[in-house]
Amino acid sequence: MKRRNFLKNSTAATAGMLSAPLMISCKTENEKKISSSNEKNINPIVICTWNFFNASAKAWKVLSNGGDALDAIEQGVKVEEDDASNQTVGTGGRPDRDGKVTLDACIMDKDGNCGAVLAMQNIANPISVARKVMEDTPHVMLAGKGAEQFAYEKGFKKTDLLTEQSKKEWLEWKKTSQYKPIINIENHDTIGMLAIDKNGDIAGGCTTSGMAYKMAGRVGDSPIIGAGLFVDNEVGGATATGVGEEVVRTVGSFLIVELMRQGKSPQEACEEGVKRIMAKNEGRNDFQIGFIAINKKGETGGYCIQPGFSYRTYSEEGHINNPSQSFL
Ligand code: ASP
Repeated sequence: MKRRNFLKNSTAATAGMLSAPLMISCKTENEKKISSSNEKNINPIVICTWNFFNASAKAWKVLSNGGDALDAIEQGVKVEEDDASNQTVGTGGRPDRDGKVTLDACIMDKDGNCGAVLAMQNIANPISVARKVMEDTPHVMLAGKGAEQFAYEKGFKKTDLLTEQSKKEWLEWKKTSQYKPIINIENHDTIGMLAIDKNGDIAGGCTTSGMAYKMAGRVGDSPIIGAGLFVDNEVGGATATGVGEEVVRTVGSFLIVELMRQGKSPQEACEEGVKRIMAKNEGRNDFQIGFIAINKKGETGGYCIQPGFSYRTYSEEGHINNPSQSFL
């Protein structure tokens, strides 16, 4: 038995008798409504930040072939990790100020299991390494050299992630070394993805090369469970893109899922999430954050600070790029 499963099973065995009745009695009316509505009508769907058609199409292919949400997430976001022309995710990602491409990713399944890698170099698919952390270790996060070493042990190959284009732009940036993210353009194509499969189960993933020209060792929200991504299979999921420091400060994705648990729609919850951030940043309007969310019924929402953000949905009803409403 895998160590993680052993730990899980033994905890469940000792705690089960005590916690099960408690869990039932603690379910709010709203939670009951969310769970029972899904038992009747399950329509698989995938949503992702930005207009990532290829990634959402790949994830939809997995879902429509009967695959589970976790596989759909991994396969879907990998498309962007492998696309060297996307300069904010995986291969081709913009480097830190020292010229090193460091990748962050996390993944979360229907049972609340999660895995993440932080500031990992030389490995092309951090989402798959994050999944291995989740499935094959007793830990949630591996960082830096430890994450890279673990990836090699799991058979991942060393890859040069710095493309000629990203290197050229970094050398140009070094001439002034001014750290000023350009809203919607320079830094914000992180892919966060949420999926519901034919069983009505939800999974999510988030992967990025982080803010361009960040300080060495900087990690944003994207690989932090609760900040860049959160899934609760009873309620829904949320994920973020944008200036990670601000998302971390409000534990943004967790907040949005909790707001949905309290009865807000995914749209209302995303709006409230952005408003909380703006309340902490009075007078500032020079940064972008976009949240997307999905609930157990497959309803979706998205909201951002600046105009220009959108999110893509892909389901039986077809696929669409949804321009998001914005706070400003
Ligand atoms: N959220 C990412 C980070 O802060 C960047 C982004 O989404 O653009 O690392």
